Amino acid sequence: MPERRRWTVRDLRRDNRSVLLWSLYFDQPCSRQDLSEATGLSSASVSNVIRELIAEGIVIEAGSVDSDGGRPRVLLRINPDFGYVVGIDVGETRVRAELFDLTMNVRANADYPLEPREHGVDVVVDRILACLRDVLAESGVPQESILGVGVGVPGVVEHGPEVVLYGQTYGWDAVPLERLLRDKGPGTDLPLYIENGANTLGQAELWFGAGQGARHGVVALIGSGVGASIIGHGAAERAGTSSGTEWGHTTIMVGGRDCRCGSLGCLEAYVGAEAILDRYAQASHEAQGEAEGQGWQQLLPGQDEETALAALADLAETSPEAAKVLDDTALYLGAGIADLINLFGPDQIILGGWAGLLLGQRLLPAIRSSAREHALSHPYAETTISVGRIGPDAVARGAATLPIQAFLNGTAVPADRRGDVAGHAG
Ligand SMILES: [Zn+2]
Repeated sequence: MPERRRWTVRDLRRDNRSVLLWSLYFDQPCSRQDLSEATGLSSASVSNVIRELIAEGIVIEAGSVDSDGGRPRVLLRINPDFGYVVGIDVGETRVRAELFDLTMNVRANADYPLEPREHGVDVVVDRILACLRDVLAESGVPQESILGVGVGVPGVVEHGPEVVLYGQTYGWDAVPLERLLRDKGPGTDLPLYIENGANTLGQAELWFGAGQGARHGVVALIGSGVGASIIGHGAAERAGTSSGTEWGHTTIMVGGRDCRCGSLGCLEAYVGAEAILDRYAQASHEAQGEAEGQGWQQLLPGQDEETALAALADLAETSPEAAKVLDDTALYLGAGIADLINLFGPDQIILGGWAGLLLGQRLLPAIRSSAREHALSHPYAETTISVGRIGPDAVARGAATLPIQAFLNGTAVPADRRGDVAGHAG
């Protein structure tokens, strides 16, 4: 069985490369000795693989440190210019793109607003392609140097023979997004990685933010809509994995408020930004004794949800209606979090998304207190609830980690580097 043995040796070799790349990526700069200790690979194996990675231009030397009594240790890091990645966030109110080097420094960004109620597939595809063209032009990075483009989208992403989206709240039913991005107008030939936005946010927090070190966490993505990503480290603590849930469409009130999905009483219909603003408008009318009146657009400054929600939070100091709406929001959100705690027993819950960050910063004690009241006491005691650290670009940043993950696993190389890299000739 010579065929089989050759395959196994090559496979092992690729695996050692991957183990070292993952270790170096998250702990750079570090020395060959550090890598050997962190991975358990022999110093000879580390030296061989690192020699290969330096020759290919993936790893570079970055100075040295003194070691006790011995020769100075050479520090290594990933070459940030070996390749570039793009992360795109298809949000509720905008499409945002960022182009990063391989070590996640931002080199260019682009932003196109979306009308909150206009998520026609054609519009979204046009905006994604426009963002991609803009970041390539602004950065001056040629297409051939792009490792891949990650796209974080709302809704359920099905990875079958082709990537298909189901976004019930937008009327997206089996939308073949990847095919549309290839075919529409000039389209794009770049490798595409399409994933649910709560998942890409979860991966960003897991890799670079509040989720570092979490064994089993949940990242809640709250914008106009609501989602959650369940994250856990693999056994070897290298490939962080995450999976999305439709937490926003779990029922928090039987027979409650209308939800955009067509059901009644979903969590999103209470704690999504649009729902919070609508509840405020309703509370204001009721306080005036009116059955119906103006929408939040007439009651709060700013025509976009982000400005209006920030204004509502400021208003809570003087307006009893605004204060009540926010208190109730903390109560509902805490109850929704308690469900996550009882179902999944995470050791960490992170609030993210633009509205999640705003609510978390203003209401965290009240949210924690409601979660404590609604969850079982033991799993509640085992978890922490915190606010995400990455900021509002976390979905785009997380989307950009998808091609990086493929690169670290040895399955993606930029087109202009394929001749230099072992196993990718041609
Ligand atoms: Zn719903």
